[in-house]
Amino acid sequence: MTQTGLTSHQCLSLVIGAGIAGLLAARALSEHYEQVQIVERDILPEHPEYRAGTPQSFHLHRLISRGRTVLEVLFPNLISELLERGAASTANKGMHFVNQFGQFTIYDPTEYAST
Ligand SMILES: Cc1cc2nc3c(=O)[nH]c(=O)nc-3n(C[C@H](O)[C@H](O)[C@H](O)COP(=O)(O)OP(=O)(O)OC[C@H]3O[C@@H](n4cnc5c(N)ncnc54)[C@H](O)[C@@H]3O)c2cc1C
Repeated sequence: MTQTGLTSHQCLSLVIGAGIAGLLAARALSEHYEQVQIVERDILPEHPEYRAGTPQSFHLHRLISRGRTVLEVLFPNLISELLERGAASTANKGMHFVNQFGQFTIYDPTEYAST
């Protein structure tokens, strides 16, 4: 038994949805199941592009620190690979928040990838 209560080498697990949560769940489950199947409503594109099932994808996305930590455990060197492939670095870039109550700007000194 592992800490998750899953025995290793179980046969098949099923994940619904190939968004970031589904893909990361599949990555985690792949250590405990011989096969992981992902059922997705969209036809997934060959290359990164927008699709109907993830309408938020055109917005700027930054990794928060906990997300970065978890992703780099699951996918070592992910951040540097994303940066090499053209993701924007957040290092020392300003982020501007504006709403009906006012606005403020924060600067991030760390090197995260954003898309
Ligand atoms: C403007 C904006 C900015 C954001 N900025 C950030 C940010 O900077 N940092 C951050 O961490 N988060 C950010 N978020 C939040 C982030 O985008 C979401 O939390 C995240 O994308 C949700 O991922 P998910 O996999 O849970 O769901 P989704 O991305 O919604 O994926 C769900 C998947 O399930 C599929 N699906 C749905 N129904 C079915 C079905 N019946 N059968 C099969 N497949 C199905 C869909 O096609 C899709 O692929 C932002 C969100 C918005 C709107």
